[in-house]
Amino acid sequence: MRTVNAYAAPSATEPLVPTTIERRDVGPKDVLIAIRYAGICHSDIHTVRGDWGPITYPQVVGHEIVGEVVEVGSAVTKHAVGDRVGVGCMVNSCRECENCRAGMENYCLAGNTGTYAGTDRDGTITQGGYSTHVVVDEDFVLRVPAALDYAAAAPLLCAGITTYSPLAHWNAGPGKRVAVVGMGGLGHMAVKIAAAMGAEVTVLSRTLAKKDDGLAFGATDYYATDDDATFEALANRFDLIVNTVSAPLDLNLYLRLLRLDGTMVNVGAPPEPLPIQVFSLFNNRRSFAGSSIGSIAETQEMLDFCAEHGIAPETELIGADQINDAYERVLSSDVRYRFVIDTATL
Ligand SMILES: [Zn+2]
Ligand SMILES: [Zn+2]
Repeated sequence: MRTVNAYAAPSATEPLVPTTIERRDVGPKDVLIAIRYAGICHSDIHTVRGDWGPITYPQVVGHEIVGEVVEVGSAVTKHAVGDRVGVGCMVNSCRECENCRAGMENYCLAGNTGTYAGTDRDGTITQGGYSTHVVVDEDFVLRVPAALDYAAAAPLLCAGITTYSPLAHWNAGPGKRVAVVGMGGLGHMAVKIAAAMGAEVTVLSRTLAKKDDGLAFGATDYYATDDDATFEALANRFDLIVNTVSAPLDLNLYLRLLRLDGTMVNVGAPPEPLPIQVFSLFNNRRSFAGSSIGSIAETQEMLDFCAEHGIAPETELIGADQINDAYERVLSSDVRYRFVIDTATL
């Protein structure tokens, strides 16, 4: 075991504080990573505050991790000391179920092991990336291409793959009209990635406040959902709608914007059930779907795609002592578009 610096939540109601945590010894298949940067995801805040159920404290969160390999186990073949690597939302899975065998660990039937607040296969509670070091099985470690800026690469490990996976699965590309609902951490990545895939991208945001950004990120159109005329103007238009909003929306309004065989996919996770009029689906044979992060292979594909197309999240770099303020700013949507913690300040 080794003791490393970290920033942890002591309870659901207290601010995060500096502390130390234990990392396991490097096993034969493990990689020890010196973390350089960690992104702040909205899920981090939900988790430490117990919004998604009770957790064990103290808890370190963070699942947008980039750093350098500093030690490898005796049986490691995929990574070497000095490599630039990343870790996303999961650090293990059962490896035996139908989905794992198909290379879709994110949909492990036994549940993948979350990078934080998960119970690993050895029974320990996982601790996330607001920390100086982490030990991860090599199979769940990604290569970060040299062309990607280190700090900017961090949010790709959650926000990037969460939006890339549905865009790739539903074939966003030339000739396809894609709408992105919400222009936050996930939404701005969806716009950049969909545009790079060659799709015609429209942003649907509550107001036009971020219109200039949306167009700069590659959208061709930008509409305010506060304006009822938007839903008339865009009826039967899109092949794919990626909804990144975690607050409840009137899905029926949005479903009507889908053309024949169009799909609306949710990557935002509102806690309450959302009512759907089945007639909204009958017309145009529409589908409503969900998508959860992406597999390890697809995450690597996404990192390589972003490097090749020069895509990076918009980030604001902060020190560890600014994490609690950053949480408040995430909750009030006061960030363009992702906070990244410099772990040298831990
Ligand atoms: Zn996340
Ligand atoms: Zn599995």
